[in-house]
Amino acid sequence: MRPDLFEAPDYYNLDELLTDEHKLVRDAAREWVKREVSPIIEDYAQKAEFPTQIINGLAEIGAFGPYIPMEYGGAGLDQISYGLIMQEIERGDSGVRSTASVQSSLVMYPIWKYGNEEQRQKYLPKLASGEWIGCFGLTEPDHGSNPSGMVTNYKDMGDHYLLNGAKMWISNAPFAQVAVVWAKNEEGRIHGLIVERGMEGFTTPETHNKWSLRASATGELIFDNVKVPKENLLPNKSGLGAPLGCLDSARYGIAWGAIGAAMDCYDTALRYSKERMQFGKPIGQFQLQQKKLAEMITEITKAQLLTWRLGVLRNDNKATSAQISMAKRNNVDMAINIAREARQILGGMGITGEYSIMRHSMNLESVITYEGTHDIHLLITGLDITGLNAFK
Ligand SMILES: Cc1cc2nc3c(=O)[nH]c(=O)nc-3n(C[C@H](O)[C@H](O)[C@H](O)COP(=O)(O)OP(=O)(O)OC[C@H]3O[C@@H](n4cnc5c(N)ncnc54)[C@H](O)[C@@H]3O)c2cc1C
Repeated sequence: MRPDLFEAPDYYNLDELLTDEHKLVRDAAREWVKREVSPIIEDYAQKAEFPTQIINGLAEIGAFGPYIPMEYGGAGLDQISYGLIMQEIERGDSGVRSTASVQSSLVMYPIWKYGNEEQRQKYLPKLASGEWIGCFGLTEPDHGSNPSGMVTNYKDMGDHYLLNGAKMWISNAPFAQVAVVWAKNEEGRIHGLIVERGMEGFTTPETHNKWSLRASATGELIFDNVKVPKENLLPNKSGLGAPLGCLDSARYGIAWGAIGAAMDCYDTALRYSKERMQFGKPIGQFQLQQKKLAEMITEITKAQLLTWRLGVLRNDNKATSAQISMAKRNNVDMAINIAREARQILGGMGITGEYSIMRHSMNLESVITYEGTHDIHLLITGLDITGLNAFK
């Protein structure tokens, strides 16, 4: 892969909306991605391996629990800093951002919000430092968009719970030490359980042959009569709203992350269009190529504004789930379209690993599907504005 020459576009001077702390956090993440992720990520994507050597660095830039209080090892930052970190990481690779999102929003968040003090003390500092990696088990082979239909279940055996079932498409599963697993109790109510690697009957086979998020490890979680200690149940929230609360936080981070992938594709295509000569001119001088680039920067700018405003609402605890759905859907769609157009600007070179665009493009096929598909988020907006439920 070529040297990383990334320069972030800021067409509407949005930096003026950021505090000094936001800019410090973002610039540290940006520099780290240039130094530690860009030089190796193409090789790891080609090998279909997660680069475990970057785990300590992710922890150091605050990517594990950016908004978790410092007393639990988190970075104690606000929601805009959290978003900016996700943007910068996904500028490098959506798979690396997925690992950070899962760790922060889907593992640390539920332990912090729904766990008791002992659970917070036991797990959060180790997850914040990257000593432990976590995963989040909601999706099942027969229940993806409709997780309420899940069949994974646990029974109260007196001194422990007995967990049975299977989860599929779980990011970080193959190497995670800890899994936050959503399962139904004997009354059919959904609860979160913390399952640890090494518990008898718990296995995590890896999912192979992915053409997308190749630098992120994905796997199954299989529970065959797993004895889970009673103290591993998250006591403070149950029902589908519990996992959906985690997804709100992760989807918000994805809305920012997608901007990072789009910025990288745009920046690469813009630079290429000024250097690549055809018919005696740089291809950026042709109107058709300018149309593509002008539309890209317009869409990126709109997404930046949407997401910044959402961050302000999140900081004030005012953002609704439907507002988050709109931003996730809009920004990932924006990024995938930009990746496709940017790839065309690079002609044949666009399909090679010399440039990041094809990798972003393939990664975004997962990002548009996970954490609620493109269509599901549209239906959430539809339900919000009409009051009429298309899911029933
Ligand atoms: C790489 C990757 C990593 C993932 N990581 C995790 C993870 O860490 N943890 C986790 O729990 N899950 C994870 N997922 C799972 C992901 O969230 C699901 O794939 C997603 O929710 C969609 O579920 P599904 O694949 O079963 O598709 P389905 O639900 O079967 O959907 C198939 C199609 O039908 C459409 N559809 C479904 N219902 C409706 C409806 N009511 N109206 C209209 N259209 C509908 C969908 O929009 C979609 O286009 C991951 C997925 C991938 C690909």
